[in-house]
Amino acid sequence: MPDDVICAHENGVRNALDAGWKILERGGTALDAIEAAVMVMEEDDTFDAGRGSFLTSDGTVEMDALIMDGATLRAGGVGGVQHVRSAIKLSRLVLEKSPHVYFVGEGAERFAEEHGMQLIDNKELVIDREVNRLRELKAKLAAGGKDTTFSGGQDDIHPAEMSSHDTVGALALDVHGNIAGATSTGGTLNKDPGRVGDSSLIGCGCYADNASAAASCTGWGEPIMKLVLAKSAADEVARGKDPQSAARAAIASLKTRLNGHGGIILLDAQGRYGIAHNTPRMAWGVRSAEGAQVGIKR
Ligand code: ASP
Repeated sequence: MPDDVICAHENGVRNALDAGWKILERGGTALDAIEAAVMVMEEDDTFDAGRGSFLTSDGTVEMDALIMDGATLRAGGVGGVQHVRSAIKLSRLVLEKSPHVYFVGEGAERFAEEHGMQLIDNKELVIDREVNRLRELKAKLAAGGKDTTFSGGQDDIHPAEMSSHDTVGALALDVHGNIAGATSTGGTLNKDPGRVGDSSLIGCGCYADNASAAASCTGWGEPIMKLVLAKSAADEVARGKDPQSAARAAIASLKTRLNGHGGIILLDAQGRYGIAHNTPRMAWGVRSAEGAQVGIKR
Protein backbone atom coordinates (compact mmCIF):
# COMPACT_ATOMS: atom_id res chain seq x y z
CA MET A 1 0.00 0.00 0.00
CA PRO A 2 1.67 3.17 -1.18
CA ASP A 3 1.89 6.14 1.24
CA ASP A 4 -0.62 8.24 -0.67
CA VAL A 5 -3.52 5.83 -0.09
CA ILE A 6 -2.99 5.14 3.63
CA CYS A 7 -5.48 7.80 4.65
CA ALA A 8 -8.16 6.52 2.28
CA HIS A 9 -7.72 3.00 3.66
CA GLU A 10 -7.95 4.19 7.25
CA ASN A 11 -11.10 6.18 6.48
CA GLY A 12 -12.64 3.26 4.63
CA VAL A 13 -12.01 0.90 7.53
CA ARG A 14 -13.37 3.46 10.01
CA ASN A 15 -16.56 3.87 7.98
CA ALA A 16 -16.98 0.11 7.83
CA LEU A 17 -16.51 -0.18 11.60
CA ASP A 18 -19.13 2.50 12.15
CA ALA A 19 -21.65 0.76 9.90
CA GLY A 20 -21.16 -2.58 11.62
CA TRP A 21 -21.08 -1.18 15.12
CA LYS A 22 -24.35 0.72 14.61
CA ILE A 23 -26.03 -2.63 14.08
CA LEU A 24 -24.29 -4.49 16.92
CA GLU A 25 -24.91 -1.68 19.38
CA ARG A 26 -28.67 -1.94 19.05
CA GLY A 27 -28.60 -5.72 19.49
CA GLY A 28 -28.39 -6.66 15.80
CA THR A 29 -26.80 -9.85 14.54
CA ALA A 30 -23.17 -10.43 13.64
CA LEU A 31 -24.31 -11.37 10.11
CA ASP A 32 -26.11 -8.06 9.60
CA ALA A 33 -23.12 -6.17 10.99
CA ILE A 34 -20.52 -7.75 8.71
CA GLU A 35 -22.74 -7.46 5.65
CA ALA A 36 -23.15 -3.74 6.32
CA ALA A 37 -19.43 -3.26 7.02
CA VAL A 38 -18.36 -5.05 3.85
CA MET A 39 -20.92 -3.20 1.73
CA VAL A 40 -19.42 0.09 2.86
CA MET A 41 -15.99 -1.05 1.67
CA GLU A 42 -17.39 -2.44 -1.61
CA GLU A 43 -18.88 0.98 -2.33
CA ASP A 44 -15.59 2.70 -1.46
CA ASP A 45 -13.42 2.54 -4.56
CA THR A 46 -10.27 2.56 -2.41
CA PHE A 47 -10.58 -1.20 -2.08
CA ASP A 48 -10.42 -4.20 -4.40
CA ALA A 49 -14.08 -5.11 -3.98
CA GLY A 50 -17.22 -3.93 -5.74
CA ARG A 51 -16.68 -0.70 -7.67
CA GLY A 52 -12.95 -0.02 -8.05
CA SER A 53 -11.95 -3.70 -8.11
CA PHE A 54 -8.81 -4.86 -9.88
CA LEU A 55 -9.52 -5.80 -13.49
CA THR A 56 -9.20 -9.12 -15.26
CA SER A 57 -6.90 -9.37 -18.27
CA ASP A 58 -10.04 -8.61 -20.34
CA GLY A 59 -10.54 -5.32 -18.51
CA THR A 60 -13.70 -6.43 -16.69
CA VAL A 61 -14.58 -6.77 -12.99
CA GLU A 62 -15.25 -10.32 -11.72
CA MET A 63 -16.12 -10.52 -8.05
CA ASP A 64 -16.04 -13.33 -5.47
CA ALA A 65 -17.53 -13.19 -1.96
CA LEU A 66 -18.52 -15.38 0.97
CA ILE A 67 -20.51 -14.80 4.14
CA MET A 68 -20.76 -17.39 6.92
CA ASP A 69 -22.75 -17.69 10.12
CA GLY A 70 -20.78 -19.19 13.01
CA ALA A 71 -23.92 -20.17 14.93
CA THR A 72 -25.41 -22.44 12.28
CA LEU A 73 -22.55 -22.89 9.77
CA ARG A 74 -24.90 -21.60 7.08
CA ALA A 75 -22.94 -19.94 4.31
CA GLY A 76 -23.48 -18.14 1.01
CA GLY A 77 -20.83 -17.72 -1.64
CA VAL A 78 -20.59 -16.33 -5.16
CA GLY A 79 -17.80 -16.55 -7.72
CA GLY A 80 -17.11 -14.63 -10.91
CA VAL A 81 -20.09 -12.27 -10.69
CA GLN A 82 -19.99 -9.27 -12.99
CA HIS A 83 -23.34 -7.52 -12.91
CA VAL A 84 -24.23 -6.81 -9.28
CA ARG A 85 -23.26 -3.80 -7.23
CA SER A 86 -22.55 -5.83 -4.09
CA ALA A 87 -21.21 -9.37 -4.14
CA ILE A 88 -21.61 -9.67 -0.37
CA LYS A 89 -25.28 -8.72 -0.53
CA LEU A 90 -25.78 -11.46 -3.10
CA SER A 91 -23.87 -13.89 -0.87
CA ARG A 92 -26.16 -13.03 2.02
CA LEU A 93 -29.17 -13.75 -0.20
CA VAL A 94 -27.69 -17.14 -1.04
CA LEU A 95 -27.19 -17.83 2.67
CA GLU A 96 -30.77 -16.82 3.51
CA LYS A 97 -32.79 -17.97 0.52
CA SER A 98 -31.10 -20.89 -1.19
CA PRO A 99 -30.73 -24.58 -0.34
CA HIS A 100 -27.33 -24.26 -2.05
CA VAL A 101 -24.21 -22.69 -0.64
CA TYR A 102 -22.37 -21.50 -3.73
CA PHE A 103 -23.28 -19.94 -7.08
CA VAL A 104 -21.05 -18.86 -9.95
CA GLY A 105 -21.33 -16.58 -12.97
CA GLU A 106 -24.60 -16.46 -14.86
CA GLY A 107 -26.52 -18.66 -12.43
CA ALA A 108 -25.49 -16.42 -9.55
CA GLU A 109 -26.76 -13.39 -11.41
CA ARG A 110 -30.03 -15.10 -12.32
CA PHE A 111 -30.45 -15.91 -8.63
CA ALA A 112 -29.74 -12.27 -7.80
CA GLU A 113 -32.39 -11.03 -10.21
CA GLU A 114 -34.95 -13.56 -9.01
CA HIS A 115 -34.42 -12.27 -5.50
CA GLY A 116 -34.88 -8.61 -6.31
CA MET A 117 -31.31 -7.46 -6.90
CA GLN A 118 -30.86 -5.11 -9.81
CA LEU A 119 -28.35 -6.23 -12.43
CA ILE A 120 -25.97 -3.54 -13.63
CA ASP A 121 -23.58 -2.95 -16.49
CA ASN A 122 -20.08 -4.19 -15.63
CA LYS A 123 -18.75 -0.76 -16.65
CA GLU A 124 -20.35 0.74 -13.52
CA LEU A 125 -17.77 -1.21 -11.49
CA VAL A 126 -14.77 -0.19 -13.61
CA ILE A 127 -12.91 3.00 -12.67
CA ASP A 128 -10.18 4.91 -14.54
CA ARG A 129 -7.53 4.21 -11.90
CA GLU A 130 -7.89 0.47 -12.54
CA VAL A 131 -7.97 0.85 -16.32
CA ASN A 132 -4.64 2.68 -16.04
CA ARG A 133 -3.23 0.18 -13.56
CA LEU A 134 -4.02 -2.69 -15.93
CA ARG A 135 -2.61 -0.82 -18.90
CA GLU A 136 0.64 -0.12 -17.04
CA LEU A 137 1.02 -3.74 -15.97
CA LYS A 138 0.39 -4.99 -19.49
CA ALA A 139 2.98 -2.57 -20.84
CA LYS A 140 5.46 -3.84 -18.26
CA LEU A 141 4.73 -7.44 -19.20
CA ALA A 142 5.11 -6.67 -22.87
CA ALA A 143 8.52 -5.20 -22.02
CA GLY A 144 9.56 -8.48 -20.45
CA GLY A 145 8.43 -8.06 -16.82
CA LYS A 146 7.08 -10.93 -14.79
CA ASP A 147 3.59 -11.48 -13.44
CA THR A 148 1.07 -14.11 -12.55
CA THR A 149 -0.02 -14.44 -16.15
CA PHE A 150 2.74 -16.72 -17.25
CA SER A 151 2.90 -19.79 -19.37
CA GLY A 152 4.45 -22.08 -16.79
CA GLY A 153 2.89 -24.03 -13.91
CA GLN A 154 2.00 -22.99 -10.39
CA ASP A 155 5.51 -23.36 -9.03
CA ASP A 156 6.85 -20.98 -11.63
CA ILE A 157 5.10 -17.96 -10.21
CA HIS A 158 6.66 -14.64 -9.20
CA PRO A 159 4.71 -13.31 -6.23
CA ALA A 160 6.68 -10.09 -5.89
CA GLU A 161 5.06 -8.84 -9.06
CA MET A 162 1.57 -9.14 -7.65
CA SER A 163 2.07 -8.03 -4.11
CA SER A 164 -0.73 -5.47 -3.94
CA HIS A 165 -3.99 -6.74 -2.42
CA ASP A 166 -7.06 -4.90 -1.35
CA THR A 167 -9.72 -7.51 -0.63
CA VAL A 168 -12.08 -6.57 2.18
CA GLY A 169 -13.31 -8.64 5.11
CA ALA A 170 -15.22 -8.24 8.36
CA LEU A 171 -15.86 -10.37 11.44
CA ALA A 172 -18.26 -9.70 14.30
CA LEU A 173 -19.45 -11.05 17.64
CA ASP A 174 -23.01 -10.06 18.59
CA VAL A 175 -24.88 -9.82 21.92
CA HIS A 176 -26.31 -13.28 21.32
CA GLY A 177 -22.78 -14.71 21.50
CA ASN A 178 -22.60 -15.54 17.79
CA ILE A 179 -19.73 -14.81 15.43
CA ALA A 180 -19.81 -14.42 11.64
CA GLY A 181 -17.34 -13.73 8.83
CA ALA A 182 -17.43 -12.13 5.39
CA THR A 183 -14.92 -11.55 2.59
CA SER A 184 -15.43 -9.77 -0.73
CA THR A 185 -13.00 -9.18 -3.58
CA GLY A 186 -12.40 -8.35 -7.19
CA GLY A 187 -9.52 -10.85 -7.05
CA THR A 188 -6.02 -10.31 -8.31
CA LEU A 189 -4.94 -7.78 -10.92
CA ASN A 190 -4.83 -9.09 -14.49
CA LYS A 191 -6.29 -12.47 -13.48
CA ASP A 192 -7.52 -14.66 -16.30
CA PRO A 193 -11.30 -14.46 -16.75
CA GLY A 194 -12.97 -17.25 -14.79
CA ARG A 195 -10.23 -17.46 -12.17
CA VAL A 196 -11.68 -17.77 -8.65
CA GLY A 197 -9.43 -17.00 -5.68
CA ASP A 198 -9.48 -17.93 -2.02
CA SER A 199 -11.84 -15.19 -0.85
CA SER A 200 -15.17 -16.87 -1.55
CA LEU A 201 -14.12 -20.47 -0.89
CA ILE A 202 -15.27 -21.77 2.47
CA GLY A 203 -12.36 -22.26 4.82
CA CYS A 204 -9.87 -20.62 2.46
CA GLY A 205 -10.46 -16.86 2.47
CA CYS A 206 -13.34 -16.89 4.94
CA TYR A 207 -14.79 -19.05 7.70
CA ALA A 208 -16.94 -18.84 10.82
CA ASP A 209 -17.84 -21.35 13.51
CA ASN A 210 -18.84 -20.42 17.06
CA ALA A 211 -16.95 -23.52 18.21
CA SER A 212 -13.62 -22.23 16.86
CA ALA A 213 -13.37 -18.76 15.31
CA ALA A 214 -14.32 -16.51 12.43
CA ALA A 215 -11.57 -15.65 9.95
CA SER A 216 -11.08 -13.53 6.84
CA CYS A 217 -7.97 -13.46 4.64
CA THR A 218 -6.42 -11.24 2.03
CA GLY A 219 -3.37 -11.78 -0.10
CA TRP A 220 -2.18 -14.01 -2.88
CA GLY A 221 -5.13 -16.36 -3.21
CA GLU A 222 -3.59 -19.50 -4.65
CA PRO A 223 -1.31 -20.35 -1.68
CA ILE A 224 -4.08 -19.33 0.76
CA MET A 225 -6.42 -21.80 -0.94
CA LYS A 226 -3.93 -24.64 -0.86
CA LEU A 227 -3.49 -24.25 2.90
CA VAL A 228 -7.25 -23.75 3.55
CA LEU A 229 -5.89 -20.94 5.66
CA ALA A 230 -9.01 -19.48 7.34
CA LYS A 231 -10.23 -22.85 8.59
CA SER A 232 -6.74 -23.99 9.58
CA ALA A 233 -6.32 -20.87 11.71
CA ALA A 234 -9.78 -21.26 13.28
CA ASP A 235 -9.00 -24.89 14.10
CA GLU A 236 -5.90 -23.76 16.00
CA VAL A 237 -8.13 -21.57 18.16
CA ALA A 238 -10.38 -24.58 18.85
CA ARG A 239 -7.25 -26.50 19.88
CA GLY A 240 -6.43 -23.84 22.48
CA LYS A 241 -4.29 -21.20 20.75
CA ASP A 242 -5.30 -17.62 21.38
CA PRO A 243 -6.46 -15.88 18.16
CA GLN A 244 -3.42 -13.58 17.95
CA SER A 245 -0.99 -16.53 18.09
CA ALA A 246 -3.16 -18.49 15.65
CA ALA A 247 -3.19 -15.55 13.20
CA ARG A 248 0.60 -15.21 13.41
CA ALA A 249 1.11 -18.95 12.96
CA ALA A 250 -1.19 -19.01 9.91
CA ILE A 251 0.74 -16.24 8.18
CA ALA A 252 4.05 -17.84 9.12
CA SER A 253 2.93 -21.13 7.54
CA LEU A 254 1.78 -19.28 4.41
CA LYS A 255 5.33 -18.01 4.04
CA THR A 256 7.26 -21.12 5.02
CA ARG A 257 5.12 -23.67 3.17
CA LEU A 258 4.39 -21.83 -0.08
CA ASN A 259 6.26 -18.54 -0.01
CA GLY A 260 2.84 -16.88 0.09
CA HIS A 261 1.99 -13.41 1.30
CA GLY A 262 -1.13 -11.95 2.81
CA GLY A 263 -2.99 -11.17 5.98
CA ILE A 264 -5.64 -12.62 8.26
CA ILE A 265 -8.08 -11.40 10.91
CA LEU A 266 -9.49 -13.83 13.48
CA LEU A 267 -12.18 -13.48 16.15
CA ASP A 268 -13.54 -16.04 18.58
CA ALA A 269 -16.87 -16.19 20.42
CA GLN A 270 -15.24 -14.77 23.57
CA GLY A 271 -14.34 -11.62 21.66
CA ARG A 272 -10.61 -12.39 21.52
CA TYR A 273 -9.11 -11.37 18.18
CA GLY A 274 -5.94 -11.68 16.16
CA ILE A 275 -4.48 -9.69 13.27
CA ALA A 276 -1.41 -10.73 11.29
CA HIS A 277 0.15 -10.09 7.89
CA ASN A 278 3.48 -10.53 6.18
CA THR A 279 2.90 -7.73 3.67
CA PRO A 280 4.52 -4.43 4.72
CA ARG A 281 1.09 -2.98 5.48
CA MET A 282 -2.51 -4.09 5.95
CA ALA A 283 -5.38 -1.79 6.91
CA TRP A 284 -7.32 -3.09 9.92
CA GLY A 285 -9.72 -1.83 12.53
CA VAL A 286 -11.39 -3.02 15.71
CA ARG A 287 -14.54 -1.61 17.31
CA SER A 288 -15.85 -2.64 20.72
CA ALA A 289 -17.72 -1.02 23.60
CA GLU A 290 -14.34 0.46 24.59
CA GLY A 291 -14.04 2.39 21.32
CA ALA A 292 -12.40 2.11 17.92
CA GLN A 293 -8.86 1.43 16.85
CA VAL A 294 -7.66 1.65 13.25
CA GLY A 295 -4.18 0.86 11.96
CA ILE A 296 -2.07 0.08 8.95
CA LYS A 297 0.72 -1.98 10.52
CA ARG A 298 0.51 -4.57 13.22
N1 ASP B 1 -7.07 -12.99 -2.01
C1 ASP B 1 -7.60 -12.34 -3.17
C2 ASP B 1 -7.56 -13.27 -4.34
O1 ASP B 1 -6.55 -13.95 -4.52
C3 ASP B 1 -6.89 -11.08 -3.52
C4 ASP B 1 -6.72 -10.09 -2.42
O2 ASP B 1 -6.69 -10.44 -1.24
O3 ASP B 1 -6.61 -8.89 -2.70
O4 ASP B 1 -8.48 -13.28 -5.11
